[in-house]
Amino acid sequence: MNKKTTVIALLSSVFLMLAMVLVNLVVTATQHHKTVWATSTSKSAYENISIKTKEASEKRYQIALQYPIFKQASLNKKIEQYTKKKETDFLQKLEQVDAKKLKRQPASLRLTFELILSGNGVYSVLFRDETYINAEKNDIYYESFIVDMKKGRLAKASDLFIDPQKASTALHIPVPISEAGLYVKNSQVIFFTKDNKHEASMPFRRAAPFLKKEWRDQLAAGLAAEEIPAGKGLKKIALTFDDGPNPKSTAAILATLKKHDAKATFFMLGSRVEQYPELVDQVVQEGHEIGNHSFSHRNLAKLDPREVKKEIDQTALAVEAAAGVSPLTVRPPYGATNATVNEIIGAKPMLWTVDTMDWKSHNPKSICGIVKKEARDGSIVLMHDIHQTTAQSLDEIVTYLQKEGYELVTVSEL
Ligand SMILES: [Zn+2]
Repeated sequence: MNKKTTVIALLSSVFLMLAMVLVNLVVTATQHHKTVWATSTSKSAYENISIKTKEASEKRYQIALQYPIFKQASLNKKIEQYTKKKETDFLQKLEQVDAKKLKRQPASLRLTFELILSGNGVYSVLFRDETYINAEKNDIYYESFIVDMKKGRLAKASDLFIDPQKASTALHIPVPISEAGLYVKNSQVIFFTKDNKHEASMPFRRAAPFLKKEWRDQLAAGLAAEEIPAGKGLKKIALTFDDGPNPKSTAAILATLKKHDAKATFFMLGSRVEQYPELVDQVVQEGHEIGNHSFSHRNLAKLDPREVKKEIDQTALAVEAAAGVSPLTVRPPYGATNATVNEIIGAKPMLWTVDTMDWKSHNPKSICGIVKKEARDGSIVLMHDIHQTTAQSLDEIVTYLQKEGYELVTVSEL
């Protein structure tokens, strides 16, 4: 073999290798539609949160994804899982579409988001994605996440609730919470269907009893103090019923309240909650509030701290199990409290301003007389739903108060 042939052979083998590499590259690219991304990061309106933008443009499609970046890697991982899923779902859909058609009319995926400050270090992330594949396949879809930056937690709507199913029916959400999105803005909780065709909003305090404590506290801490009550200007009174529930008299009281479209608060005993869970659930479903009146009606001021905590916690758990809500306030039996009890309750005990003495008189006329005489705007009226005579007095009391222009609300709405 002379020098010339050696050089030619060498050159051709190098050429062949190069050609093979090239072919391989092209094949890989067409097989996997390798997407080339352009990414950038910019500042958001909030400290510690930035905005990431990822864009890809190909002959068949365009993708533009925009999502928030937090300080915590765990949060970012979950958000990126969501955006990645959007991208792969989109590319998968394209596989079923004729490539020539796509070259004529490229498909597109556009994911954007809104960031809403919802509480103390808590943000609602509201995603909107718009997919265009062809004239028939043009979808807009919404999703929400609630992000707690302080604790590095992220939740979907249903993760926030003690019992999503019970909350769905009691709060009249257009779809079950497990299928809904949610965000919190200006002291309102807004539920929406993922196609965004239906929306339901309510004051935070209405949804609050249904929320898990750790989220409720964090969200409540950031709410505007100057929340505007729904019935501004109207005089309000809170009727409260202690020591129940009782199958006969509580049921009668509920019927009267329903007849007048009035709301009330029931300070229940945990021991009785365990006995009549369906009644507890009915109270919540009919829009009333439940308060904690201890488990066994002992004088909390005379118990040691461990026992006090047990009385309160056991009752809260029983109410949660029965109705999917937790009591927002505590009324210690006999109104007996001290610094230790207050500290365990974690808030001011909810006492009363009008005592009907119903437990003593058992006299509807006398009970009505006291309410008529002492009721003022902002009054909290003490009654007991374990007495039939109290139930009998209620129709006249409610009729009178409403005629006087009072709105009957729960203690948390006062
Ligand atoms: Zn009591």
